[in-house]
Amino acid sequence: MRLRIQLTGWDRRTLTLTDTPRPDCPLCDGHGGRGYDYGDHEGEYAGTEWDPCTCWDETRRRTLLRLPRFPRRRRADRDPWSNEPPF
Ligand SMILES: [Zn+2]
Repeated sequence: MRLRIQLTGWDRRTLTLTDTPRPDCPLCDGHGGRGYDYGDHEGEYAGTEWDPCTCWDETRRRTLLRLPRFPRRRRADRDPWSNEPPF
């Protein structure tokens, strides 16, 4: 079990600790699994299945820290018709 710190999420940035595949794994060569195409009942390509390897557990992850979103400063909050002097 090798742990790696990973930043996940685009909108909400979350720092997570994840398990990673063994780089010298004889089953997956460190790729963490293998993908294989499958077809529907007529033999047409229907998608690709990803089969994770047993050398790691992709569900074993722990959230370390949720990074807060910094709100943008809004200029619209200032009232242009305020009676206050501009200085
Ligand atoms: Zn493996």
